[in-house]
Amino acid sequence: RSLEETLERLVADVPDFPEPGVGFKDITPLLADPEGFAQVVAALATPGRDADGAVAVTKVLGMESRGFILGAPAALHLGVGFVPVRKAGKLPRETHAVAYSLEYGEATLEIHTDAVAPGERVLVIDDVLATGGTAAATIELVERCGGIVVGVSVLLELAFLDPRAKLPNTPVHTLLTN
Ligand code: IMP
Repeated sequence: RSLEETLERLVADVPDFPEPGVGFKDITPLLADPEGFAQVVAALATPGRDADGAVAVTKVLGMESRGFILGAPAALHLGVGFVPVRKAGKLPRETHAVAYSLEYGEATLEIHTDAVAPGERVLVIDDVLATGGTAAATIELVERCGGIVVGVSVLLELAFLDPRAKLPNTPVHTLLTN
């Protein structure tokens, strides 16, 4: 099956969730299908390779919490380590923190200061790119560590929110666009 067929078959459109007028993409059928899940993980990992197919990153990073589900298997697929970026107060050791604005209010994301070494090349993976605020904050966290984000890879991009405007210097790889 093509990637397009897999996504069409296994990502469910749920109208009016979590509130009326909002359409939600539910990836749980995809996660329950080992072949479809593997196909999507491999596709998300693609920007972690150079033109010859050689692995060109040293870490894959995922954001809490659906970025963990997609990012951790992508890291193993590439044979590199996984870095979690978490909401404030969850990581036990010394962290860098970046606050960013949400539709209502603010949120803070954290990374362990030693999670990415200076010069490391990092692929960032999440489920949905909406306003781009979460991805932009994550890029800043990697840069505080001295690392380089070589790309952001997402299952779904809500293009009408123009997330790429917040990510002017980072290649974005998207499997589905809304
Ligand atoms: P952003 O910071 O506005 O780009 O939002 C991206 C983050 O919020 C991601 O970590 C997503 O998991 C989550 N998110 C935002 N909008 C949606 C949505 O419509 N469906 C599922 N997740 C979303």
